[in-house]
Amino acid sequence: VQNVIGPKAPGSLGECLRAPGGAPHTFVGPAEYETDAGYSLKDIHNARVTGSIQPSAVVFATEEAHVALAVSCAFRFGKPVYGRSGMNQYEASCAGTGAGCVVVDVNNMWEVGWPSSGCQSGQSGCVASLGPGLSLGSAYFELSKRGYTIPAGACAWVRVAGLTLGGGQGWLMRKYGLLIDRLRAVDVVLLNGTKVRVDENTEPHLFWLARGGGGNIFPGVATAFHFELVPMPVSPATYSMEWAATKECRKTLPALWYERMAMHPDDDLFAKLWFSNSGQPKVAIDVTYIGEDKRSAEELLRAVGAASACGAATRIQMTPNTTWTSVVLGANDGDERIGAPGNNNCGWDLSGPTPRRTACQGYDTSYANQWASRSLVTGAGGRIPQGVWDALAEDIMYNGYFVEIEPSNGFAGTVAKDATAYPHRDPGSVTLQIVMASSGDISSVVHQSAETMRAITAHVPRLGYYNYLDKNMHQYSGLPRDAYYGSNADAVEACDVGELVQHPDAPKTKKYPTGTGTK
Ligand SMILES: Cc1cc2nc3c(=O)[nH]c(=O)nc-3n(C[C@H](O)[C@H](O)[C@H](O)COP(=O)(O)OP(=O)(O)OC[C@H]3O[C@@H](n4cnc5c(N)ncnc54)[C@H](O)[C@@H]3O)c2cc1C
Repeated sequence: VQNVIGPKAPGSLGECLRAPGGAPHTFVGPAEYETDAGYSLKDIHNARVTGSIQPSAVVFATEEAHVALAVSCAFRFGKPVYGRSGMNQYEASCAGTGAGCVVVDVNNMWEVGWPSSGCQSGQSGCVASLGPGLSLGSAYFELSKRGYTIPAGACAWVRVAGLTLGGGQGWLMRKYGLLIDRLRAVDVVLLNGTKVRVDENTEPHLFWLARGGGGNIFPGVATAFHFELVPMPVSPATYSMEWAATKECRKTLPALWYERMAMHPDDDLFAKLWFSNSGQPKVAIDVTYIGEDKRSAEELLRAVGAASACGAATRIQMTPNTTWTSVVLGANDGDERIGAPGNNNCGWDLSGPTPRRTACQGYDTSYANQWASRSLVTGAGGRIPQGVWDALAEDIMYNGYFVEIEPSNGFAGTVAKDATAYPHRDPGSVTLQIVMASSGDISSVVHQSAETMRAITAHVPRLGYYNYLDKNMHQYSGLPRDAYYGSNADAVEACDVGELVQHPDAPKTKKYPTGTGTK
C-alpha cells in the first residue's frame, strides 16, 4: 500500500495530521498537548525521563489508517516518528536527537484477532493477532478463554509492542522461548507511511529487526503482532522460599540456584532468584512449574535452600495446584481488574475531547514514579564465576532495593544467535536486572548501580537485555551496541537506524537502508 498522502500536501504538520482520515485526537505543539489536569499528553510512565520527551505532535490512533496518515505526515515534514504503547520505557524515545518527533500512541489498539476457525482448547498451530497496545494482563485473560497464552512477562500493564520489539522475557521462556520466538508476522506502517506485513518472506530484514532490535530504533509503527500461541499451562505449581539476606546467604545461594535450578534440564521448571528490601532485606527463589513431576520441583527448591548458608527460611509457600490466571494475578498484587473485560490497565481514555490518563493496576503504579534499569546477560557456556555473586553480595541493599535474576535459557537458548536481532542464545544464559523505582529522586541509586555493574562485570562480559534499556551504560564502560546486540551488532548497525547502535567511530547517519525515511 502506498503512502497515503498525495502530491498536494497540506501546508503545515497540523493541517496534514488533521486531514480527512486522521485521528480525531491529534494534538500539535505544547499548547495543545499540555493539559490542566496535572499531566501532559506526551508523558510516559517514568517521571525520571518524561520531561526530556519533546514532540511536535501527539496523535492518539485507534485504527491503522490513523497511524498511516500520522506517519506519512511526519515523513512529509521531516519529523522522526515514535510509537507509544504502554509508556513503560526505561529511557525516553523522542528525546535528545529524537526531539521534534510525532508520537503515535497506539495504546487503544488492543484487539485480539482470532482466525475464523480453529484456535480452540489450546490446540497447536493457532496464530492470532494482538494489538500493539494490548496489556499483558488483558492478553493473559483473553487468551485463557480458549486455553492459550503467550510466553511473556509478569507485569500486567506492560504492552505487547515494546515488549516484543525488544525480545520479551518471561515465565515460559525456558519452555517456549522468548515472545519473539513465537512471532510469525508484524503489521507495520513504515516511516514513509506505507503499510506492510513483514514476515520471513516479506521484508525479512525488518522482521529480523522486529525480533529484539528494540522499540527505540524500530523504523516504523507496528499496528499488529501475529503470534503462534502456546497452550495455557493447565495446573501449574508455584513454590516460593525466602531467607534473611545475610552476606553468607547472598554468597552461597546464587551459585546453587544457577547450577541446580537455572540450568536444570527440565524446561518445565522456571526458578527466579531475587533480592529485595522493602523494610527487611531478603533473598528469595520463586518457582513456577508447569510439568508433571511437581514433587521433584518442590524438593529441589528445599534442597537448594538447605545446601546454602541461608539458614532457616523466613517464609515458605508451596502451592502445587493453581491456575494460570492465578499465577498472573499473584504477580500483580492480586488485583482482579487487570483481567476485567473492557479494561486494558493504565492508558488513555478517549471518550472526551481531551484524552484522560487512566489509573494503573498492579505494583508501583504511580505515574509519578521514577524508573531506571541496568541488566546483565551472563552464563555463556553454563558457567558464572563466583566473583559475580561475591560482588553482588557486597551491594548495599538500600530501602527499595530490587535485583532479580531469571533463567533466559532453555528453548530460548537453543535458537540460533543470528536468527533474530536478540543475540543472547546460550544454554547457560540468565538475565540479571537491577530495577530502580521510587516516588522520589533515584539518582543516588542509579549511581550505586553503576558501581555494582562495574564490580560484577570485572568477572564477565558487559552484555545486557535491550528491554532493560540503559543509556548510561558508559558509567561502567559498557557499550550499548555490543551489550544489547552482541554478535549481531554489525548486522543491526547495517540497518543504520540510530545512534544507540552505531559504533562510536561511525559517522552519525540515521537512514534506514530501504529508503523508508529517517529516525
Ligand atoms: C514494571 C515493568 C515490568 C517489566 N517486566 C518485563 C518482563 O517481565 N519481561 C521483559 O522482557 N520486559 C519487561 N519490562 C520491560 C519492557 O519490556 C519494556 O519497558 C518495554 O519497552 C515496554 O513496552 P511498552 O509498549 O509497554 O512501552 P512504550 O514506552 O510504549 O514502548 C517502549 C518502546 O517501544 C516503542 N514502541 C511502542 N509502541 C510501538 C509501536 N506500536 N511500534 C513501534 N515502536 C513502538 C517506543 O517508542 C519505545 O521505544 C518491564 C518494564 C516495566 C516498567
